[in-house]
Amino acid sequence: MHRLLPMKNCPLCVKYFIIYLMQSIQAILQRLYDTHRNYSEGHPATYIPELAKADPKKFGIVVTTVDGEVFKVGDFDTKFSLQSTSKPFIYGLALEDLGREYLHSKVGVEPTGEAFNSIVELEKTTHRPYNPMINSGAIAVSNMIVGSSFEARLQKIMNLFGDYVGHLVTVDENVFESEKQTAHRNRSIAHLLRHFGVIDEHIEETLDLYFKQCSVLVDTQDLAMMAATLAAGGKNPRTHKEVIRSDYAKDILSLMFTCGMYDSSGEWAYSVGIPAKSGVSGAIFGVVPGKMGIAVYSPPIDAKGHSMRGLKVFNDLSQELGLSIFKGHP
Ligand code: GLN
Repeated sequence: MHRLLPMKNCPLCVKYFIIYLMQSIQAILQRLYDTHRNYSEGHPATYIPELAKADPKKFGIVVTTVDGEVFKVGDFDTKFSLQSTSKPFIYGLALEDLGREYLHSKVGVEPTGEAFNSIVELEKTTHRPYNPMINSGAIAVSNMIVGSSFEARLQKIMNLFGDYVGHLVTVDENVFESEKQTAHRNRSIAHLLRHFGVIDEHIEETLDLYFKQCSVLVDTQDLAMMAATLAAGGKNPRTHKEVIRSDYAKDILSLMFTCGMYDSSGEWAYSVGIPAKSGVSGAIFGVVPGKMGIAVYSPPIDAKGHSMRGLKVFNDLSQELGLSIFKGHP
């Protein structure tokens, strides 16, 4: 918490400011929860049938600071699958495996202005995915994860998420199977990637690894801890383990900022102003670099795949706490 403070050398000011800040953050979260809990627009994702079973009323908000302070309201311990909120972390893992030069010879760093599952830009220009935050880029990145076998590569991914959250995580096998059976669009993206030489011939194995990472189970507290780890330059605020090199954590945040909200990234940058990533299970996490990680879970999503309560909470929270990275100190 002390890293949030502008007046570090006056111990009494620090003490009272911390108490004030903690009470206000908790009160703000409670107010946002109360304000938005009855909002009823949007529906849980249906194109992955298992996700349609989510309870639309579930709603959790968690803020975790880089010093490990946690503020939480609502259904913060309800489990959900990461879906696309897994993408930034797997991108980081591939960076550590292969380095920037190789990875970005296969996947770019430009926003598409297209939907997360778009296939058109692959065909249109460079014949490689525009960035690792969309499905085509994430499938290409999954193909790159180094390991002696599928199991070894999956274990590496599970260990990574375990390090980010600070405890072991598991895969929701029902979500995995459900996506695997219905992933016609992702399967066509993978075949097109193979056609253009972006991925190797192990198409189904690559897709399985991608579906598994999307099916990792967390709750809102876990996701906020993952966000706080990125906010802290790659060090988990609770375990103090370095999960990712700080320069790669910076790369992740850059791409989350420009591409993490897909074809809403510009609007998000303008109104919320922090790096963020959404997933169709109804999760959104945001990172205030050097300060805090924020996660919201609420299954009803809009046409672009973003949690509708999540959008509201982030917009309000950004205004109330002055979170935009262009605004100076919150
Ligand atoms: N697993 C989902 C998919 O590939 C992830 C999409 C998302 O969360 N936006 O379609």
